[in-house]
Amino acid sequence: MKNLIYFLKRFMLPHAGMFTMVLCTGMIAAAASGAGVPFMVKYVFPVVFRNENGAMPELLELIPSLQSLSPGTLLMMACAAMPAVFLIRGVAMWGNAVLVSVLGIRILETLRMQVFSRVQELPIAFMESRKKGDIISRILTDTANVQSILTTVSNDLIKQPIMALCSISAFVFLLVASGQGILFLVNILFIALAAWPIIEFGRRISQKSQRAQQGLGELNAAVQQNLENQREVRAYAMEERQIEYFANASRRLRTNLVKLVKYQKALIPVMEVVTALALAFLLVRGRLYGLQLTDFMAIAAALFFAFDSMKRAGTAWNRFNEAQGAIRRLAEVLMEPNNIPEPENPKVFSSPVRGEIRFRNVTFGYEPDKPVLRGVDLTIPAGQIVGLVGPSGSGKTTFASLIPRFYEVSQGAVEVDGIDVRELRPHDLREQLSLVGQQALLFAGSIRENIRLGRLDATDEEIIAAADSAAVSKFLESQPQGIDTELGQGGAGLSGGQRQRVAIARAFVKDAPILILDEATASLDAESEREIQEELDKLAQGRTTLIVAHRFSTIRNAHRILVFDYGRIVGDGTHEELYANCPLYKELYDRQGIE
Ligand code: ADP
Repeated sequence: MKNLIYFLKRFMLPHAGMFTMVLCTGMIAAAASGAGVPFMVKYVFPVVFRNENGAMPELLELIPSLQSLSPGTLLMMACAAMPAVFLIRGVAMWGNAVLVSVLGIRILETLRMQVFSRVQELPIAFMESRKKGDIISRILTDTANVQSILTTVSNDLIKQPIMALCSISAFVFLLVASGQGILFLVNILFIALAAWPIIEFGRRISQKSQRAQQGLGELNAAVQQNLENQREVRAYAMEERQIEYFANASRRLRTNLVKLVKYQKALIPVMEVVTALALAFLLVRGRLYGLQLTDFMAIAAALFFAFDSMKRAGTAWNRFNEAQGAIRRLAEVLMEPNNIPEPENPKVFSSPVRGEIRFRNVTFGYEPDKPVLRGVDLTIPAGQIVGLVGPSGSGKTTFASLIPRFYEVSQGAVEVDGIDVRELRPHDLREQLSLVGQQALLFAGSIRENIRLGRLDATDEEIIAAADSAAVSKFLESQPQGIDTELGQGGAGLSGGQRQRVAIARAFVKDAPILILDEATASLDAESEREIQEELDKLAQGRTTLIVAHRFSTIRNAHRILVFDYGRIVGDGTHEELYANCPLYKELYDRQGIE
C-alpha cells in the first residue's frame, strides 16, 4: 500500500487535472446507469404503459406541470428519455475511456523514462546482483503493468464503488417509496455477502500472482542465459539440457498461472449467483407482498447495477492484487537508496588534472565482512604506467574499479589529485578516466559515432586523428562506407581486434589523464594482441595508466608492477626488483614463460 501511495503521488499528482476529468466522466456514466435506468423503469415507463385502471402515473403527480402537456408530446418525451439517458451514458463512457487511455499512455512514458534514468544512476552493485533479463523486464513489462493499475484500476476502484453507491441509493429510495423496508435490510445482507468473495479471492490472487511473476522471471532468465551463451551451448552440445531446463521453468510457470486463473475467473460467476439469489428473494417477497411490476423491475435494475459495479470493482481489485509484484519490483528500482551519493558540496579538480592516484589504507568487500582488498596503501604518481598482476581472484579488477568509484570503500579513502573521490561529483571524476575493458562496448551506429562517444564535442578532425592513432584507419578501407559504416548492436560486423581498436580510438578522443586497461587484450589471439599492444602503448604515454594484466607481455612498458595476493599487495617495484625479491611474482612469471 505504501508503495502504491508513493506511485500515485509521484505519477498521478502531476496529471491531477486530467485524472479529475476521468473521474467526472466516470461518475456521470455511473450515475446514468446506476440510478438513471432504475428511475426510468419506475417513473418514465408507466407514462408510456398507462395502468388499465387509469390511475395517474407517479411522475405526473411528482411534477404537476407535465399534466398540461398533450398526451402525444408527453409520450414523445417519455420515449426520448431512454435514449437521452443512454446518450449521456455513452458520451460519458467514451470520454472516460479516451481520457483513461491518454492518461495511461502519458504515465507509461514518464514511468518508463524515470525507471530507465534511475537505472543509469543506480550503483553498479545493484546491477550485478540482478540478471539483465530481470532489469529489462522491469523497464518494459513492469512499467506497463503499473501504468495499467495507476489508470484503469484506480479509475475503476473509484468509479465502480461510486456507481454501486448510486445504485444502492436508488434501490433504497425505491424500496422505501414502495414501503418495502424489510427487503432493504435483507438485500443489504446479500450485498455484504457479495463483498466476501471479492476480499477472499483478492488475497489469494495476490499470493498466486507473486508466484507466477517469479516464474516469469525464471523463464526470462533462462532465455537470456541461453541466448547469451549460444556458442557454449552448441559447443558443449547442451541443447537438450537447455530445452529441459526451459521446459521445467515453463511448466512451473504454467502450474502457477493455472492456479491464478481459477481464482481470477471465479469472481464473476460467484457474484452472479449471489445476484440471482438476491433477485429470486426479491421475486418471492414481491409476490407475497403485492409489489407492483414496475416497482419490482426498477428495484431489480438497481440491484443488478449495484452487483454489476461491485463485480467490476472486484475485478479491478483483483488486477490490483495481481500487479502488486510489479509495483514492488519497480519500487525497488525507484526507491533503492543510491549508495554512491553525490556530495552536497562537491570539490572540483584544479585544472589541468594531473591524474595522481592515492589509496589510503583501503579495505573493501563486495559483501560485509568479506574483504576483497585489505589495507591497500600506496601512491601512483601522475603519468606512471602501472601493471597489476596476481593470481585470478586476487583483487586486481576490484582495485581498478575503486578509482572511478564504481563501489564505495569500506575503510580508508581513494584520492585523485589529493581529493577523496567521495567529495567529487561522480560525473566530474569519471570525465578524467578512460576505460578499455576485455570486451569493447560498441553501440548500434556508425564507427564515427562510436568513437565520438569518448567526447561528444570532438571535431571530425579529432575523430580522424584518434582513428589514425588507434589504427582504426587501417581496416576502414575494407568497410563499405569507411568511418561511416553502420555497426550492428554490440559492434556486429567487426572482428574482436577491430572492435577493440574502436574502443581505443574512443579513449584517444577522450584524452583523459587516467587510463584503466582491464585485460584489454585478453580475448584476442596472439597476433591481434601484438598489433593492438602498440596502440595501447601509445595511448598510455603521458597518462596515469593501470594495466590489469593476464599476460606479462602487456606490461612490458610498465614503470612499476603491483603484485596482488588475496587482496593484499605483496610486491611493488620494477620487473627486475620483483623477479629478484618477490617469490609469487617470480613464480607467476616463470610459469607464463613455460606456457
Ligand atoms: P582479479 O581481477 O584479480 O581476478 P577480482 O578483483 O575480479 O580479481 O575479484 C576479487 C574477488 O572478488 C574474487 O574473489 C571475486 O570472486 C570477488 N568479486 C569480484 N567481483 C565481484 C562482484 N561484482 N560481486 C561479488 N564478488 C565479486
